[in-house]
Amino acid sequence: ANDIQYLRSKLAQYPDFPKKGILFEDILPIFRDPKAFQILIDSLVSLIKEKFENVDVIVGLEARGFLFAPTLALALGCSFVPVRKPSKLPGEVVEVSYKKEYETDSFAMQKDSIKPGQRIVVIDDILATGGTALAADQLIEKLDGKLLGHVFLMELDFLKARDRLQAPTYNLLNGQ
Ligand code: 5GP
Repeated sequence: ANDIQYLRSKLAQYPDFPKKGILFEDILPIFRDPKAFQILIDSLVSLIKEKFENVDVIVGLEARGFLFAPTLALALGCSFVPVRKPSKLPGEVVEVSYKKEYETDSFAMQKDSIKPGQRIVVIDDILATGGTALAADQLIEKLDGKLLGHVFLMELDFLKARDRLQAPTYNLLNGQ
């Protein structure tokens, strides 16, 4: 519990970023402090071991998911696989479009990055409306992966996005 409080103390809030009316949660101070980064990884490892069995792959979402998903995968002894913005990945890819607040965006994965039936946990920093997470779920479904669930550092719970996600959803810092 003290560890989680220490992590929470590292979050910084920026009003009106990236636009007016948004209170932006900045997770970057965690990575400036090796003690906080270590606690982050250890806590995520414990959470994932407690909630999921036989995880094969940690999928991390561009861009902030990339900051810690590979380290987490290594600590768990799993594969790390990225979900990226389109045109960034070589070879054959699967792609989906998803709605953001004002625009449509796309996400992609390499076709050979997961094998059918592999057991997958999706990682990102913040769950807001859930559009990003749902897009990742669709990609995993296209590749016949077995989605076990989602783990976020934080959920903006007033947006109620967890109700939109089909798979079990956990976070480290809200305490639910
Ligand atoms: P969603 O698709 O759930 O609306 O938005 C989630 C995505 O937007 C995540 O990839 C996350 O990185 C980013 N995001 C939304 N709000 C915040 C925020 O307050 N802080 C940070 N760091 N990322 C945010």
